[in-house]
Amino acid sequence: MECIFCLKKNEAKSIEHIVSESLGNTIYLMERGRVCDACNKRFANFEREALSSTVLLMERARMGIPNKKGNAAQGVIGKIGIQGNKDFLKNLVTLGGLPQEEIADWDPQKQTFSLKLPAFDKNEVAVSKTLLKIGLESLFTSKRKVFKKYDFTQLRQFLDNSDPTEWPMVVFSGKTIGTFESIPINIHKYHLSRFRCSLLFQEKDSRTLLFKFSYGGIHMMINLLNRDLDWLEEQQAPATHDTIYPAHYRKKLEKHLEKKAKDVVVATAKK
Ligand SMILES: [Zn+2]
Repeated sequence: MECIFCLKKNEAKSIEHIVSESLGNTIYLMERGRVCDACNKRFANFEREALSSTVLLMERARMGIPNKKGNAAQGVIGKIGIQGNKDFLKNLVTLGGLPQEEIADWDPQKQTFSLKLPAFDKNEVAVSKTLLKIGLESLFTSKRKVFKKYDFTQLRQFLDNSDPTEWPMVVFSGKTIGTFESIPINIHKYHLSRFRCSLLFQEKDSRTLLFKFSYGGIHMMINLLNRDLDWLEEQQAPATHDTIYPAHYRKKLEKHLEKKAKDVVVATAKK
């Protein structure tokens, strides 16, 4: 069998979960051998980082999803320790090392406060990689025609570290432009929805194949084909609550939009 990432023939022993087991997935899997052991091992490193040191950890803890070993979600976001409930009760999370200044709007009557957590603490690359990995594997498994239509060389080179240039993604409110379609169908789609996970795609043009990943209250989007910023402009980003990662891409997009606006002015003047 040929690995869909490194394209090498292999006799893989490991089973690749398209969405990580630690996010709650037990049945949406890759056919054995479609991800070789070497790629699987490489992926495990960035997946672990994405799941245990970012806002995804908070969602795992909040939804009471056990990790691979059957334990409650646990990790650190920024400087704050996150521990899910040991009996997997929902919405019961223990926070450790919480600095006073991070607690805002404390209401003594209702005993509520709001807490700002960094979405990613220098883990953007690991999250981008995780999204790209899930996107390609799910298309291969559930939308083979779409998978066959495009060239994923850049994605593969990013995941095997031969081109480590960062790859932008957006964390957004969930509202998007255009129609998205679910990648998994039937039982797999239903299984993922039980832990509020959805994998959607939209074909825009030959350079834009958008992949939208939702988990709990977190929605993220990435272009599976390249690192261009044009699709972000299309999505009206950066809207007030949308955030582009890695951070320097925000500046890049601003410049890109400024230049476009100038070009429009020049074009109008010429008329
Ligand atoms: Zn491989």
